[in-house]
Amino acid sequence: MSAHQAIKIGLLTSGGDAQGMNAAVRAIVRTGISRGCEVFAIYEGYEGMIRGGDLIRRMNWESVGGILQRGGTIIGTARSPGFRTREGRLQAAENLLARGISHLIVIGGDGSLTGADIFRREWPELVAELYAAGAIDAETAQRHTFLAIVGLVGSIDNDFAGTDMTIGADSALHRITEAIDAITSTAASHQRTFVIEVMGRSCGYLALMGAISGSADWVFIPESPPETDDWQRAMCDALRIGRENGRRDSLVVVAEGAQDRNGNAITAQQIKQVLEEHLGEDTRITILGHVQRGGVPSAFDRWMGTLLGYNAVEEVLRTTATSEPRIIGIRENRITTAPLMKCVAETRTIAAAIANHEYERAMALRGGSFSEAFRTLRTLVQAKPPRPGHAPHPLRLAIIHSGGPAPGMNTTVRAAVRMSVDQGHVVLGVRNGFQGLIEGDITEMNWMSVSGWATTGGADLGTNRKIPQGAELYQIARNIERFGINALLMIGGWSGYQACHKLFSERHIFPAFNIPIICLPASIDNNLPGSELSIGADTALNSIVDAVDRIKQSAVASRRCFVVEVMGRDCGYLALMSGLATGAERVYLPEEGVSLRDLQADLDEMVHWFKRGKRLSLMIRNEKTNPVYTTGFMVALFEEEGGSYFEVRQAILGHLQQGGNPSPFDRIQATRLAVKCVEFLAECAAQGRTDGSFIGIKGGRVQILSLEDLPRMMERDHARPREQWWMGLRDVAKILRQPPT
Ligand code: ADP
Repeated sequence: MSAHQAIKIGLLTSGGDAQGMNAAVRAIVRTGISRGCEVFAIYEGYEGMIRGGDLIRRMNWESVGGILQRGGTIIGTARSPGFRTREGRLQAAENLLARGISHLIVIGGDGSLTGADIFRREWPELVAELYAAGAIDAETAQRHTFLAIVGLVGSIDNDFAGTDMTIGADSALHRITEAIDAITSTAASHQRTFVIEVMGRSCGYLALMGAISGSADWVFIPESPPETDDWQRAMCDALRIGRENGRRDSLVVVAEGAQDRNGNAITAQQIKQVLEEHLGEDTRITILGHVQRGGVPSAFDRWMGTLLGYNAVEEVLRTTATSEPRIIGIRENRITTAPLMKCVAETRTIAAAIANHEYERAMALRGGSFSEAFRTLRTLVQAKPPRPGHAPHPLRLAIIHSGGPAPGMNTTVRAAVRMSVDQGHVVLGVRNGFQGLIEGDITEMNWMSVSGWATTGGADLGTNRKIPQGAELYQIARNIERFGINALLMIGGWSGYQACHKLFSERHIFPAFNIPIICLPASIDNNLPGSELSIGADTALNSIVDAVDRIKQSAVASRRCFVVEVMGRDCGYLALMSGLATGAERVYLPEEGVSLRDLQADLDEMVHWFKRGKRLSLMIRNEKTNPVYTTGFMVALFEEEGGSYFEVRQAILGHLQQGGNPSPFDRIQATRLAVKCVEFLAECAAQGRTDGSFIGIKGGRVQILSLEDLPRMMERDHARPREQWWMGLRDVAKILRQPPT
């Protein structure tokens, strides 16, 4: 054997299947090939490793084509009792060594990853034993003295310490949210109560986030059982008050592992009984079950799975005999690695804490944003309408939109209104953006005026890109005085930030502008400073991914190149991330622009691959990449020059990207940020402060910055922030686009 033999990487999915595993599989295979490795898929998890034969197959670039949009895992997964035995693992080692595999990437839950670690620790002994038994030769034994393993966590439950999200959790949340939306739309017309049971084993993530996203009225999670033994009464009181105030439907979400403080299970059936007995409500139970594992992966699971897969290969190639095995995860919006067994141990500690009734500990171990989400939900469900004037420093809070419509705007307004009303503030809704503030188109909002807004797309208050100028500022100042507005919450995009900055910087001329102002980022373009993500961007990404899935399906019969134009204005976020999530070969970004020479090179590359049997090519172009080389121009160029090799079609996705009901992620972030904004404005009022600020999420945490800093955070002449975290992901997109020539 030559010393320059390619490294052989084995790859398996194990344990429960989860949407997004295929994205990781695809990225692992293609990154491995690009790095000059041979990649083997081990079908049916550890069972395939033990059985060997055709269950361990060498993959090529094409074997993972067209799988990004498929749920589950194309290489299969299984539980393998055999792998729990040393005998089984010895057989597995023999099968790997027969193919020269001693690098392994395992996608699975804590069980699967523990199995991998046991295998790794035993490996030298297993090799020695196989050599002694004559099953492998001396050279094989010497070449494979250690097993390099890397883990990715695939689990819909999101129950793993060491990563903020597991592969599949976001898609499961999509299924839960879709189901809740469908169920509550009938509940509203029948005045019923629904109890929905969601999965998660001992982790309440899906229940909690599903409850926020579906605007449930009560939730039960394993980590934080009801504080009183009389949970029945607490729940019934909250639901009754809601009803008395006009709410038509009631929704209770219960995690499958929910329990009371004594460790007794709280089941959907019990909840139904309580509601029927105490409230006399017609109550229906829906147990979501395996629906949550089904369906297409969400945009997030596709791009995250892709990034995790790419990084897993990099990590496994770095691994040496002495390195501690690691998992690749996502932390605070960045791909990170963490020690595998430490994460497994922590994961098990949380489960043990729950089993031992140590609930504070379990909540603390889940991490800050989990507890914060729980507090937010509790605040919202316990908010009791209406107690105007109860606050010691009551706000007369004006809420206004500005910019293009973004899914999640309504969700944000609802949360802000209910929080404010609960705390005794008065909320004034400004219609049609800053135009409405100029014209005095302002009405008081109450608890019920935002009923149903949690789940609907669009912006019911109306929005546009008006930025007030000159005399209009006088009119705004007059209306602020006339309506007694003493705080302003702007939920919107770049024009809103500019407008608020304008009011802020003209305070010396208009004393009326001396009120606390805060901007909340809501724009599908994700082009706002101070926040890594803006409300609406995740929904838009899902809309794009969905549209591209359909477009790809339309091309089964011919050789075709699609040029898909997406929105984003001066910001390439949607283009790049949808490119990663759909497997586009080429992504055109306004940050990079495009030259004729680039287009010529792309064309040559396409011709090269179509000549070799390629059937479909996907290019994603941001709308403002280049004012001259438009989408139409590119299509004409490719069509003319591509000639007989392929046809070209364009798809300008347009406004469908701004529509649709907000995704679970957008609903959750919208709720989270709205609650923070109201708290911040109330704090300003209490302390007599008049901060001009904008809120955002950075590194998974909420931050509030001063409007003073706004100009320096933006790029000159372009409506995009100077710092864009996702630009670092461009390399991955490049590596996965074509096989190395
Ligand atoms: P998950 O990976 O989703 O937690 P399981 O706990 O069922 O799912 O584990 C999947 C497979 O991983 C098991 O069927 C078994 O083959 C392997 N496995 C789990 N735990 C161990 C262990 N302690 N030792 C060896 N193999 C294990």
